Amino acid sequence: MTASGLRCRVCETVSVLEPVDVCRRCDGPTDVTYDWDRIARHVTPATLAAGPPSLWRYEPLLPAGAHVEFGAGWTPLVHAERLSASLGIELHLKLEGHNPTHSYKDRVAALAASAALDHGVTTLCCSSTGNLGHAVAVAAAATGLEAVVLAPVDGDAAAVAARHPGARVFAVTGSYDDCRRLELELGSLFPWGFVSGNLHPYASEGAKTIAFEIAEQLGWQLPDAVVCPAASGTLFAKLTQGFAEVARAGLAREALPQMFAAQALGSSPIAAAFADDRSISRVHPDTHVASLAVGDPSHGDLALGAARATGGAVLALPEHEIATYTELLTDTTGVAPDASGGAALGALIAARDSGMIEAGSRVVLVVTGRRPRSRVEGPHVRTIDPDAADVLAALGLDS
Ligand SMILES: [Zn+2]
Repeated sequence: MTASGLRCRVCETVSVLEPVDVCRRCDGPTDVTYDWDRIARHVTPATLAAGPPSLWRYEPLLPAGAHVEFGAGWTPLVHAERLSASLGIELHLKLEGHNPTHSYKDRVAALAASAALDHGVTTLCCSSTGNLGHAVAVAAAATGLEAVVLAPVDGDAAAVAARHPGARVFAVTGSYDDCRRLELELGSLFPWGFVSGNLHPYASEGAKTIAFEIAEQLGWQLPDAVVCPAASGTLFAKLTQGFAEVARAGLAREALPQMFAAQALGSSPIAAAFADDRSISRVHPDTHVASLAVGDPSHGDLALGAARATGGAVLALPEHEIATYTELLTDTTGVAPDASGGAALGALIAARDSGMIEAGSRVVLVVTGRRPRSRVEGPHVRTIDPDAADVLAALGLDS
């Protein structure tokens, strides 16, 4: 493995690779570090092209010994000719809906499951606004890991339970942020792997493979601008990191793309901080775009930094406009995105109209997921309060 340790983002202490997400010295967040000399010696466009048609073609740039393979990654990048013509740019769509469970979260789940196997963890737990639950359930099924999925009670728990009968799914009375707090409580009780907790330094690395693929699919050139939706800010930060790593590995020479992120106005803590040039304040989400309803963004500060450093922006889209942009994307490209894709198109058009994205630019819009076909009538899903005692009772572990 070229992954060499975990580095604290605050005090820069480097520790061994283990399932922890905070620095033992200062409690700061940690990121995986790599042996870049070794990567530069061994990674070339030819060696990568010889890899499998999945995210594991970038194995030398990922922190995994075990390769959990269920087809995540290597999604199409398509030229959107009609939208390109009407916007005066060269627009490409990165179609993450082509992943096995129809969103980029399959990349995150593949890395989380691989890290679980590497570190002897047998249960994967996540909080999900929808997509991550499906992805973690499939990754667990592919590996024989147990999956525990926490979803807000008004979210997608029934659909996850219906599609993945092997997963333990709970509808939690509260918001996504309440699910995350419950996760923290469970983390003090069980030696589980938490996709947004102790496994997060590994899991989140899955998202940067979207940037690697975009560069490879453009013939190892970086686009001028990239637009994606932002909830926790992790995808946005990891995309930016991925483009920087493409250059660091010697695979492309251009400057970083301008990075643009889209939030729904009803849940836009990162966009508000960007507009006011301040740090992030958490908000109470009030949006109909479930996948963007994160009020306390874990990578908000890194996302802000990425937008500022690259000459991009984080933009908030009015709720009533998002459905219009979602339909526009479908009507002009044939792609049926979930609502976050509509928000991203809205941000792209706003950036183009204001001149932040210049005419003739090569732009990539990351369509993070596919519109769900229909509500699934599933089995009864147990509803619990955001209290670890309820989870213990449901799992028969309270005696
Ligand atoms: Zn530290």
